[in-house]
Amino acid sequence: MCGIVGVIGPAPAAPLLLEALRRLEYRGYDSAGIATLVAGRIERRRAAGKLDNLARELAQRPLAGTIGIGHTRWATHGAPTEHNAHPHVSGGVAVVHNGIIENYLELRSELISLGHRFETETDSEVVPQLVAHYLRVGLGPVDAARMAINRLTGAFALALLFEGHDDLLILARRGSPLAIGYGESQVFVGSDALALAPLTERIQYLEEGDFVLLRASGAIIFDHQGRKVERPIVR
Ligand code: GLU
Repeated sequence: MCGIVGVIGPAPAAPLLLEALRRLEYRGYDSAGIATLVAGRIERRRAAGKLDNLARELAQRPLAGTIGIGHTRWATHGAPTEHNAHPHVSGGVAVVHNGIIENYLELRSELISLGHRFETETDSEVVPQLVAHYLRVGLGPVDAARMAINRLTGAFALALLFEGHDDLLILARRGSPLAIGYGESQVFVGSDALALAPLTERIQYLEEGDFVLLRASGAIIFDHQGRKVERPIVR
């Protein structure tokens, strides 16, 4: 179980995400990746091995955009290759995942029977594929994410980025920590408040079962029963 970071705000996202991921390096990882929105489209860079490899990739092929998600992976399902590195993308949604989706085989075969083609060997890829399925049948990002997440079993923290939505990240916490950080004109998410330490002092820890709509203006948080809740902001 490794690291998740995310940002929405006016400054270029990729350097901030890389800096936040570096602060999670102490947890150990085998590959890393970042996705942002560039003119509304999802773009990503991934690399096996150390963050320096991702930094090199970003230096060669810079990633624009002011909203994004990043991940350091500790492989549990699928080899630690660039190919299996997060974020995973399908049908207009990019996802970073910490933890394990226990029912991924079942969901994967259901989606394959609906015509989906999987690109990786990970358990995590069922998440964007399932969200993409619900988007395709006509749901908006929030309902599609909610429907998909309700079908997952296991322990996870998730951050989702949607094509065409430059002021929305959806977060979910079940069995794996996540915290939101509030900057001056930016909001952040991290699986570990340490990742956010140089970026902000105002932290909001999510609770078990929380589902969050994160926008630059703030977070709307729902608990495991779907009730809108407030979580304390601490320093
Ligand atoms: N189970 C996922 C994978 O193998 C996520 C691992 C993690 O928490 O980094 O890709």
